[in-house]
Amino acid sequence: PAITNHMPTAELQKLDAAHHMHPFTTGDELAQKGARVITRAKGVFLTDSEGVEIIDGMAGLWCVNIGYGRDELAQVAARQMRELPFYNTFFQTTHVPAIALAAKLAELAPGDLNHVFFAGSGSEANDTNIRMVRTYWAMKGQPDKKVIIARKNGYHGSAMGSASLGGMAAMHEQGGLPIPDIHHINQPHWYAEGGDMTPEEFGLARARELEAAIAEIGEDRVAAFIAEPVQGAGGVIIPPETYWPEIQRICDAHDILLIADEVITGFGRTGNWFGAQTFNIRPDIMTIAKGLSSGYAPIGGSIVSDAVAAVIGSGEFNHGYTYSGHPVAAAVALENLRLIEEENILGHVRDVAAPYLQQKWEALTDHPLVGEAKICGMMASLALTPDKATRAQFAAEAGTAGLICREHCFANGVIMRHVGDRMIIAPPLVITPDEIDILIERAVKSLDGCL
Ligand code: PLP
Repeated sequence: PAITNHMPTAELQKLDAAHHMHPFTTGDELAQKGARVITRAKGVFLTDSEGVEIIDGMAGLWCVNIGYGRDELAQVAARQMRELPFYNTFFQTTHVPAIALAAKLAELAPGDLNHVFFAGSGSEANDTNIRMVRTYWAMKGQPDKKVIIARKNGYHGSAMGSASLGGMAAMHEQGGLPIPDIHHINQPHWYAEGGDMTPEEFGLARARELEAAIAEIGEDRVAAFIAEPVQGAGGVIIPPETYWPEIQRICDAHDILLIADEVITGFGRTGNWFGAQTFNIRPDIMTIAKGLSSGYAPIGGSIVSDAVAAVIGSGEFNHGYTYSGHPVAAAVALENLRLIEEENILGHVRDVAAPYLQQKWEALTDHPLVGEAKICGMMASLALTPDKATRAQFAAEAGTAGLICREHCFANGVIMRHVGDRMIIAPPLVITPDEIDILIERAVKSLDGCL
């Protein structure tokens, strides 16, 4: 029989476990429990194969910024598939969707970030960045300037290069990572690692680890520093206010390229088009993906400064993906950006959704399990703790509190993710105050379930 939405859930789950290998999942566990089958979505709500409605506090994987079910994007995809489903952008050819999207991104991106190298995902874009910054310095006559400094607990993707930039220990344990000439410094995670310092002191101290690393490695060997404006997958870690200005100063002072990985923070998530604007930084390269197409089509890329593009463009950059600038994905992304502008979704975030969510979210610190509630635009985190005064962690052997909380969320019809004992959300940007009330009500019920 055909495998459709109408098949009983248990049968779908059995086939899924038998043939589908899932990312970041233990296959044996999946075979026992079965994955939740999502069948439809509209606005901020998902529906599963049992007909249960779930509010999506994670916008898929931080990407469905515009919300589900936008027919305009389906129309554009269908039109583009009929007109020109594929052509490449290699070897002196181009097409209108890639031209139009690159021009639009140059208009939206801050400063002199006017050039776009397309990829199929954020991981691919960060692999592009590794080769681009090393090639940049080599073409400028400094081939030894190739070390890239990144951060522990940063996330930059799953390909070999991008996972090497990432600072996820569990990922480095598998497959022989990191690749050479990547160096990791500590993250600005005050709640977990700040000790007795104030957040401001700690932000400065952690930023200065970059300067210390440059001194140790040698300025003539360091190509770039890469970081997420707000760490997303690491647990929505919002750096202290002192952090980014000091990082910018250090990159300027030591002639180090700054790569802002905006895969999550781009396209309205922090209330501006890019996190670089929210944190007042001037990157040389920004990584983009996810919200670029609101997840409706796979597409990513690097937005590159005039200065870097001029050097790279002076020779052949031996790099590219079959789907660099894929016409259907590019057309969908362009329409997504048009809708975000036309409907003033950034205005909705700034004036309505983010202030309302902030008020409700910060009130969660009254809950006995919540040690910290942090929010930046439409991305937010809770630190679960057995002792608010000492910011203590739950004993790992008791099973992480976050995992237990996530199970309650699952049962209560809300998607929140857990990273250790941090609960995180990043809902679609179009969420309304009424829908935020539903999200918070279900989140509280899930926290109460952990008591
Ligand atoms: N960079 C950041 C900051 C991300 O959060 C992610 C994905 O979550 C990536 C890069 C990788 O993007 P992709 O999964 O599209 O390869």
